[in-house]
Amino acid sequence: MITRKEFAEAKNQSVHMVRRAGILLNQHEIDEMDVADFGLNDLMVEGGQMFTLMNTDRVSAKVIALFPGQTLPEHWHTALGEDPGKQETIRVVMGQLYFCQEGPDTLKKATIPKAKHQCYTARNEMVMSPGDQITIEPGTRHWFQAGAEGAVLFSFASSARDALDPFTDPEIVRVTRVID
Ligand code: ZN
Repeated sequence: MITRKEFAEAKNQSVHMVRRAGILLNQHEIDEMDVADFGLNDLMVEGGQMFTLMNTDRVSAKVIALFPGQTLPEHWHTALGEDPGKQETIRVVMGQLYFCQEGPDTLKKATIPKAKHQCYTARNEMVMSPGDQITIEPGTRHWFQAGAEGAVLFSFASSARDALDPFTDPEIVRVTRVID
């Protein structure tokens, strides 16, 4: 959970970062944004700030802002009925992103959050700069971390049902609780 004050601060800061990245958000997108601490109560270490631009039955587009060193925890996109699972393209707009997915261990720049090694099993790292993008196939475990200046990225994907996606860390609760 996060406090209302933490939520407001994270919101302001991420709106500012997205603007600085040159992406215009409308008021609705700002009002409906998601500050996710994944139920881990350590937002600046493991979390993410998401703005949904659109999400239809078939396609979704989001802007994700990550604070310096903030990690979006390891997860994958599962099949659901006829749907083979979300296919997702991450494109960096601002800052550096340390992107990790399953594959040979090349982990170098990203730092796995303290005492969380078992929750970050995907160690094939790619250091991404603005303009770089990667497409993640359904079922592939992935996580990513912002560099020292934070990062702003686009996530283009088939329909997002993020609340249903599994995370490696069993402690994770996808829906953020905001308390007074
Ligand atoms: Zn994903």
